[in-house]
Amino acid sequence: MRIEIDNGSGFCNGVVSAICKAESELDTTGTLYCLGDIVHNSDEVERLRKRGLVTITHDELSSLKGVKVLLRAHGEPPSTYKKAEENGIEIIDATCPVVLHLQKRIKEAYASRRPDQQIVIYGKRGHAEVNGLVGQTDGTAIVIEDRDGLAQLDYSRDIILYSQTTKSINGLQDMIEEIKRRKSADTEFRYYDTICRQVANRVPRLKEFAAAHDMILFVSGKKSSNGKILYGECKDVNSRTHLISNPEEINPEWLDGISSVGICGATSTPRWLMEDVKDYITRLCAKNG
Ligand code: SF4
Repeated sequence: MRIEIDNGSGFCNGVVSAICKAESELDTTGTLYCLGDIVHNSDEVERLRKRGLVTITHDELSSLKGVKVLLRAHGEPPSTYKKAEENGIEIIDATCPVVLHLQKRIKEAYASRRPDQQIVIYGKRGHAEVNGLVGQTDGTAIVIEDRDGLAQLDYSRDIILYSQTTKSINGLQDMIEEIKRRKSADTEFRYYDTICRQVANRVPRLKEFAAAHDMILFVSGKKSSNGKILYGECKDVNSRTHLISNPEEINPEWLDGISSVGICGATSTPRWLMEDVKDYITRLCAKNG
């Protein structure tokens, strides 16, 4: 059996930097609070929990005072910074620079908007990054997840469209074409491709990798947005692609008649977890002779 881990899979720069910041603080103090899961991968969250990282909710943030809290790569709305200041909380800001830049652009667009303009974000409603983006507009930005969401827009008014950093390029293109088709001729439509290339640029290589193996194990937490997208891209070229969170989810029957397995993952998938999957398959093959 040939088993290969995709070298292009795994943590993106934003996640690497957030985890480095957390680990360096934990090395010194042994305890650190993190607002929400530091990464959409429960195995990595558990590894860091054992090192002293305590995941808290926004409600819990309100009741804490004088502690250090890490903000993860997804970013936060201005209300979080305000709450931290009120409670004497020291922020360790691990917001990814790509997200920070997008927040700044949306904030500026909102500050200089005309009354007839609608700020629209193509993204997943309730996702931490999207909440941070909507927060730049005092909660007024309209979030669209898909074509159904386009019904919320007023096509007789101007539209400015941005994208959550981890959405698919094809999905955004579809939204752009659909808005162009629906809008009144005399309205202005400005759109910006704000998708992070750390995800999008992986797609062509990942497809090649998926096509080169009999079966693909895509390792990703269930909450990862880019995990869903990248898994879908693999599945498109290799129907024997399975989405798993960890080795325990592997069904040994998947290996029947297979001579090569490719292991890949999302920007939130730790390398050590893909190595665990490889070891598991190796042991399974040895057991089955
Ligand atoms: S996917 Fe891109 S924007 Fe999101 S955390 Fe990673 S590097 Fe930053």
